[in-house]
Amino acid sequence: MHVSVFELDENTFLRYSRHLIIPEVGLEGQRKLKNSSVIVVGAGGLGSPALLYLAAAGIGRIGIVDYDTVERSNLQRQVIYTEKDLGRRKVEAAKERIESLNPDVRVETYDLRIDSSNALEILKNYDIIIDGSDNFPTRYLLSDSSVLLSKPFIYGSIYRFDGQVSFIDPRRGPCYRCLYPEPPPPDAIPTCAEGGVLGLLAGIVGSIQALEAVKYILGRGRLLLGKLLVVDTLNLEFTVLNIEKDPECKACSKKEITNLIDYDNFCGIGEGRKEMLISVQELEERLRQGARIRLVDVREPYETELYRIDGAERIPFSKLVESAGRFDSSEEIVVFCHTGIKGARAARILREMGFSKARNLAGGVLAWASYNASQKDKTNS
Ligand SMILES: [Zn+2]
Repeated sequence: MHVSVFELDENTFLRYSRHLIIPEVGLEGQRKLKNSSVIVVGAGGLGSPALLYLAAAGIGRIGIVDYDTVERSNLQRQVIYTEKDLGRRKVEAAKERIESLNPDVRVETYDLRIDSSNALEILKNYDIIIDGSDNFPTRYLLSDSSVLLSKPFIYGSIYRFDGQVSFIDPRRGPCYRCLYPEPPPPDAIPTCAEGGVLGLLAGIVGSIQALEAVKYILGRGRLLLGKLLVVDTLNLEFTVLNIEKDPECKACSKKEITNLIDYDNFCGIGEGRKEMLISVQELEERLRQGARIRLVDVREPYETELYRIDGAERIPFSKLVESAGRFDSSEEIVVFCHTGIKGARAARILREMGFSKARNLAGGVLAWASYNASQKDKTNS
């Protein structure tokens, strides 16, 4: 049965008792939380703690956007999932977990990839947008959407031991484009999957994003508005930098961006064109049939120690161009890295050098290991 928080029956009183006795929250604040809505885009490392704390705090309506399934490599930081959820749709598993934590919360799920075609339609139904995606195309998409919809957007990013958070409200302060007008070149910044991330850092940054949402709803305290919090977990230093609204900003100042654009294109990323990709299933099958394929592992030496694919030669990405001289332009080449992103660059470079049959292993060794693990499970059961 659904019980409104205002009635304060025993269970509701007990559930929120530690909030209700804080003067800054109280009954009034708890009512505000109940009447608010937050959408979390990306139910991953940042989304997991954000969703759990928002739900526990009693946010009335929570939206979750994600188009992935739960994988074993997620469990090191995506604490909303358990071993039992492996292979399940993330939105389904997250919804179930939230409902078991706090049945007062209405959870709405969007099992899709958010893009220019659907973002405004989805986001307009919520008071606050939280970026749990940790990738540039989605972050620019969400920032521009927050400008167009005039609603707050809480930015968070993580890489190895370092994180950033900012509360962006284009009506009152700078937007994300004021901070970073252009995305970095795709080759300059490794993604979280490629460079790794400390699981605990995701917990800290995602929790701070949820904290900012709760403070905004309560109308209490000082937000990270016009400020960028930089978190360095290795030295345990929290630095707050001031960021200004850029009078030249195309999005929030000059209002030149009146529609959402193609952000993948804007950021120049992706695993590469379809014909430059090979799936793990296809590669495994071709190798089993005895196809002659030159397998090239472009990971760094410390990465190749972690997991190997039999028969691959190891040529770190930085040595690829000088080593490619001994390849034959007619041969079939499959390059791979940890997640498929560096591999895409490698395949592109080889194609430009004239190796027209070079392809990138989609998903890299992670996909390969995951496929092999699932095959083993099948034989064992
Ligand atoms: Zn701006």
